[in-house]
Amino acid sequence: MKIKRKTLFWKLYPSFLIISFISLLAIVMIALWSFKSFYYQERAVDLEIRAKILTPEFSRLIQSGNYQEVQKQSQQLGDDSSTRITIVLPSGKIIGDNKKDPATMDNHKSRPEIEQATRYGKGLSIRYGHTLAIDSMYFAMPIIVEDEIIGIMRTSTPLDTLQNALWSIYYKVSLGFFILIIITAFASWWMSKALVRPLEVMKVQAQRLAKGDFSSRVQLSSNDSLESEQLGQAFNEIAIQLNERIEIILNQRNEQEAVFSSMVEGVIAVDSNEKILRINQAAYNILKISEKEIEGTKLTHAIENIELQSLILFALKQNTTVGQEIILHDDVEQVLYAQSAPLLDIHKNKCGTLVVFNDITKLKEFELQRKEFVSNVSHELRTPLTAIQGLSETLIEFPDLDQEKKANFIGVIHTHSIRLEGIIENLLTLSKIEKETEVDEIDFVNESITLALSNAIFLCKDKALERNINIILNEAEDITFKHNPSLIEQAIINLLNNAIKYSNGNSEIKITVVKQAHDIKISVEDKGSGIPEEHLSRLFERFYRVDKARSRALGGTGLGLSIVKHIALAHKGSVSVTSEINKGSIFSITLPLENE
Ligand code: ADP
Repeated sequence: MKIKRKTLFWKLYPSFLIISFISLLAIVMIALWSFKSFYYQERAVDLEIRAKILTPEFSRLIQSGNYQEVQKQSQQLGDDSSTRITIVLPSGKIIGDNKKDPATMDNHKSRPEIEQATRYGKGLSIRYGHTLAIDSMYFAMPIIVEDEIIGIMRTSTPLDTLQNALWSIYYKVSLGFFILIIITAFASWWMSKALVRPLEVMKVQAQRLAKGDFSSRVQLSSNDSLESEQLGQAFNEIAIQLNERIEIILNQRNEQEAVFSSMVEGVIAVDSNEKILRINQAAYNILKISEKEIEGTKLTHAIENIELQSLILFALKQNTTVGQEIILHDDVEQVLYAQSAPLLDIHKNKCGTLVVFNDITKLKEFELQRKEFVSNVSHELRTPLTAIQGLSETLIEFPDLDQEKKANFIGVIHTHSIRLEGIIENLLTLSKIEKETEVDEIDFVNESITLALSNAIFLCKDKALERNINIILNEAEDITFKHNPSLIEQAIINLLNNAIKYSNGNSEIKITVVKQAHDIKISVEDKGSGIPEEHLSRLFERFYRVDKARSRALGGTGLGLSIVKHIALAHKGSVSVTSEINKGSIFSITLPLENE
């Protein structure tokens, strides 16, 4: 069961009230008691003085034995001084009293004041008086003659008037007491409130801080104590400091978040319980995970790739970095390089692992292409070189070979050396175009395309005529745009050479130039052998040939179309081919009209 706790106000207020009540009551009681004591003392002194004044007179009368005179004097002197006077013999017998006939009064020897007076020379008592049936104060003193007590002089006064007066004072004091209690109750209430108020203000502020509102401040009034004000200032300082720190943390977090999400590398943080702590956008993209909430889920549920899973699980057990290539099998094969590093908490204890991975598919492709290229180049060069080497060795070994054979051998050596030169020249052209494209060094001239086309046709004309092939230029308009004329000329020459090479004799080659919305399309169409469909996509690769033997026989290097493609790319353009077996092929270069 939940105990309802009192608020500070309800702890302070009743305490203040009780303390005030008890203090006031004590003060009133002490005051009343002191007042009463003082009043009684005054009366007692008064009774004593009166007794002392009257004693000589009654001493004389008792000595004379005239008890009637004693009674008479008692009455007279008592009435005159408004005091009850009682004269008692040592035996206790009363011989004078101004309020009652002594003959009717009983023996007073045992009255406390008489006993005290006989024993100690003075007696005082406050008690109920049977004679007058009223509370009275009695004072008694012995009447001594020659060291002998001959009587006792008693003076007394009723206390009813005194008590009435005291009751009136009690009444007024009680009234005052209650008024004071009410005032004190209000004062205590106000004081408790005043004490509690700053704490309440600070409680509200603390609650706001707990809810994350750091903008509000403690507002204390000038009535609040110095300590409260200092506490409030300290509280405000805490809020300002917290606000500043949280802002710094938020900024840092946002910066980290921005870096994290804009990274091209995929990042996954996994804790020691194999749960995913964080994953960035790139990781979602690379791993093709739909962007559902996977943070907090088990690694084995979130990531399907077994290789990546095993790498992360292995990395969780290691204290060093672990790197590995991972193959993702999707529609297209993707290669990642993943590297993990231990994740440390603030105490430098390992609390998980951080895996960063890159998509290196392109890199791998480039590497493969480079290897293929190197092997292709070596292969292409080795063939003519082997032939040259073999033939020249035969010529050296057999100097007596007949002239015809020698001339034949030398002719073959010459053909191979021309081929070698062709390959090397083409390779150099390719690498030059690639390099210049990379560093943006290709010069563009705003010139009519007709010039480059005419030059190319002029340079290929003889070869075409040899085979009775007619080259026709179909140019609807004179198109001027920014291009590199010598490269375009080179590309058209390559296309024309192929068209001539792979055409039957007595045919024609058509060059068509079409201006489109944003580009210009130059097509070279022949009526040659055509190319089977399956080769079309790879035709522009280096050293790719449909029929190697035929290409070589025709003096081809396998680099012509690759050069055409790179020239188009250098102009930010593209190449394409359509072909039909035995009908011919159309090779096209599309170049943008706007080039910087
Ligand atoms: P090559 O030096 O062998 O001609 P290319 O790169 O110029 O090298 O051409 C690659 C291959 O494309 C050629 O070997 C040939 O098989 C094919 N080819 C190119 N142009 C034509 C064409 N006009 N007609 C038929 N086949 C062609």
